[in-house]
Amino acid sequence: MKMSQRGMEKPLPELTDEEREIYRRQIMMSGFGEEGQRKLKEATVLITRVGGLGGPAAMELAMAGIGRMIVIHSGVVELSNLNRQNLMGYDQLGKSRAKAAEASLKKLNPGMELVIYTDEIHDGNSAERLKGVDVAIDSPPTLEERFSLNRGCMKAGVPMVEASMYGMEGQVTTFVPGRTGCLECLYPVRPEWHIPFPVLGAVSGIIGCIAAIEAVKVITGFGQPLKDILLHFDAEDNTMKRIPIRRRPGCPVCSDL
Ligand SMILES: [Zn+2]
Repeated sequence: MKMSQRGMEKPLPELTDEEREIYRRQIMMSGFGEEGQRKLKEATVLITRVGGLGGPAAMELAMAGIGRMIVIHSGVVELSNLNRQNLMGYDQLGKSRAKAAEASLKKLNPGMELVIYTDEIHDGNSAERLKGVDVAIDSPPTLEERFSLNRGCMKAGVPMVEASMYGMEGQVTTFVPGRTGCLECLYPVRPEWHIPFPVLGAVSGIIGCIAAIEAVKVITGFGQPLKDILLHFDAEDNTMKRIPIRRRPGCPVCSDL
């Protein structure tokens, strides 16, 4: 059951026979079952930027059977995108990145409701776009977009999976409004950040896939999301560290939640 906006519980959607067959292998997972699949079908995920990080996340979530996806990505496909942006191909050079992603995602899951925006997230549009969203994935290249989505998610009460990477390293955590800290708690002072930054596509792909797993956990209640934990992956020596992080008292974004 899911709470509707009027506070009434409404039943989860039923699966069709075709959906039962498509998702048979994940329904088989102990503790996930058909109820987990129905929760995915009911859910809306917002992903801001579907490049090296958000692209693999969107791909995995589409294939996992998310019912509705909101994709935000500006610009056109360039040669320098092609080492990592798996929703965009050589034949789409010069075309809208968001439209290229739309075409790829539709091939993977034609039944998914897909909402595409060809601009970027900012404080002026985040509230509107986060309406009805169950979980957001924060994966843009700029800090401005990241902190803007963070403010929007905390205000709207939407859990946010924070995924980032640089070269051979990546990190993921999940912020739950009122339960954990937020991106502003993690970086009360803005980190130094320059674009373009180095990316090995396989590394951004791994981090994007972990972000997709986090979204599935938040939606279904299956497994333990990375609440108050920053997962850090170093591909140079293949180590993963779980770093405890805390809510920061007096945080201007989340301390009143
Ligand atoms: Zn905070």
